[in-house]
Amino acid sequence: MNADQAYSYIERSVAAQRLAQAYVVVAPPRGVGDALAIRVLMLLNCTEKDAPCGCCRACLSVQDRTHPDVHWIEPQMKSRVISVKQMRGIQKQIYETSFSGGWKACVIIGADCLNPSAANAFLKTLEEPPEKTLFLLLTDSPQRLLPTIISRCHRMTVTGGDGDGLDDDLRTAVTDILASRTGGGGIQRLAKGDRLATLLKAVKKRISDEENAALDDEEANVDSDTLAARVSSRYLEVREAIMRSILLWYRDILLLCCDADPTWIHHGVSTEQLEASAAGITYRNAAAQVRAVEQMNRQLGMNMPEPLVFTVGFSVLD
Ligand SMILES: [Zn+2]
Repeated sequence: MNADQAYSYIERSVAAQRLAQAYVVVAPPRGVGDALAIRVLMLLNCTEKDAPCGCCRACLSVQDRTHPDVHWIEPQMKSRVISVKQMRGIQKQIYETSFSGGWKACVIIGADCLNPSAANAFLKTLEEPPEKTLFLLLTDSPQRLLPTIISRCHRMTVTGGDGDGLDDDLRTAVTDILASRTGGGGIQRLAKGDRLATLLKAVKKRISDEENAALDDEEANVDSDTLAARVSSRYLEVREAIMRSILLWYRDILLLCCDADPTWIHHGVSTEQLEASAAGITYRNAAAQVRAVEQMNRQLGMNMPEPLVFTVGFSVLD
């Protein structure tokens, strides 16, 4: 389901007083996942008649994450882990009475980052949850959650509007790089890898600037490790989305080689460029390109240095 359908589903559950205690939202935790969480929490906390109004005090404090009954937890250490200490801090708060007398909520961004002791502590909470408390677990890797946690949650898989989770500007920048003609030359192929590395560097700088700017507003006391971890975890999410978009590009070329149904093409707006890239390419080569991108994903997942991964990977991508 998409984000609107997921929201409507929860809205109907609220209206029927059948809201589950805990939901695993399978989606990119930042962007799709947290936007859905904010909408749902505004619905539960809004003080206006036509909830969520989006502009009352409760709605605004949900949006800027200062609502006293809504607790956010995210991986904070460089290790991208949610520690048992963080979890205990949240548990203490959710067992207290709510400030507004209404719902309390806990949103776990990147629930797959709960380390084993934090996950076990959280499981105890799920086994004996406090009254009128909603848990939203946002993750794009549900397979990394404890099965005992999953089994106590209602699971919703939420897709972004477009499937790869990228905004339009970034997707265009990526497809521009992929569509540039190499003429089969080795140097030009490597240039694609260099352009991608430059693009990623700019993405990282923008995220870092945004996180620093956000700091000035509210939390002057955030330490540099926490800040670095936030930048790094946001960056890795965007990089994953970019790599997904690249994989879909080469999958599209493979589909064109097989004369597949055009509605299956992901990068439909770039069909002309895709057709140009697919012209004269054999099925075998197209399949090898898809495998090369999958290989780059695996290497990035093992924390191999980006420049090395792209140099090797793009040497076989046309
Ligand atoms: Zn409101």
